[in-house]
Amino acid sequence: SIAQGRNRLVFYDAALANKIAYEKMLEKRLPSALLNNEFRLYYQPKVNRHGRCVGAEALLRWQQEEGRIIPPDVFIPIAERCGFMPELGIWVVNEAIAFIKTLDREDCNFPARIALNVCGLQLMDGDFVEYVEKALIEARIPASKLEFELTESALVTEAGRASSQLQYARDLGVSIAVDDFGTGYSSLSYLQSFPLDSLKVDKSFVDKMDTERGEKLVAGIVDIARALGMSVVVEGVETREQLNKLVDMNCHQFQGYLFSRPLTEQDFITWLSRNRP
Ligand code: C2E
Ligand code: CA
Ligand code: CA
Ligand code: CA
Repeated sequence: SIAQGRNRLVFYDAALANKIAYEKMLEKRLPSALLNNEFRLYYQPKVNRHGRCVGAEALLRWQQEEGRIIPPDVFIPIAERCGFMPELGIWVVNEAIAFIKTLDREDCNFPARIALNVCGLQLMDGDFVEYVEKALIEARIPASKLEFELTESALVTEAGRASSQLQYARDLGVSIAVDDFGTGYSSLSYLQSFPLDSLKVDKSFVDKMDTERGEKLVAGIVDIARALGMSVVVEGVETREQLNKLVDMNCHQFQGYLFSRPLTEQDFITWLSRNRP
């Protein structure tokens, strides 16, 4: 059993070494991936209680030349660690603004805004919001067409600095949402000091709504949002049953596989045309 234990140890070491090598390889390929146009933005619809589209969230994918798609959970932490995220984040802004123009031009029945995931590092880079402002002006798109989704950790670290950038963004007319609400920090004090428009209830809470405690927890989050005058967006809605409960709680927006998975630009446009009243 000692031998077995040793083998086990070797096995785990090998797995870890593989993981590190894989991540190093991805890290090295990030810059060329950007040049080779291997990143894609997918769009997942957000709907109101009547099922009408009220927005979409832009979600990054890395489509490698061999056709393999690497999910953001894998490469975004690497991009953040190696300092590539600001550059990739700018690409996301440009790409999303170009898509908003496309939706306008093609008269796609898209009344609402596109939400971008913004990490703390991007917000701390003092030039990010200024860049967004310039890009919007150049594209002649009102800032109300954009929303930033920020995790609690992005809101809490370097709070003062982030706050002035957030205020700047909000003064432009960009909406600000707290992403993955309730999963990050136990402190709620940032809710006092930041200008925020909406709370996004994390999928992990929706998953547990089939228990009484789980349902009450979501109801409590909704109460906090309402008391603070923020709207409530719920992510990861997969079943009718979840939706019915969330509608009864007067949540405002819903997002999840029940309505649609994240879609390519073309599929999103097709989805919108079918979503007309
Ligand atoms: P997130 O912001 O919490 O995004 C929601 C994730 O849940 C997305 O995964 C989405 O595809 C998935 N999802 C949506 N509805 C459902 C559902 O009904 N069931 C299930 N099982 N999953 C659902 P995705 O696209 O893999 O993104 C993962 C995370 O990567 C995102 O979590 C976000 O934190 C990050 N991310 C994605 N794009 C960007 C980006 O452009 N910038 C930054 N900084 N982060 C990004
Ligand atoms: Ca494009
Ligand atoms: Ca998000
Ligand atoms: Ca989430």
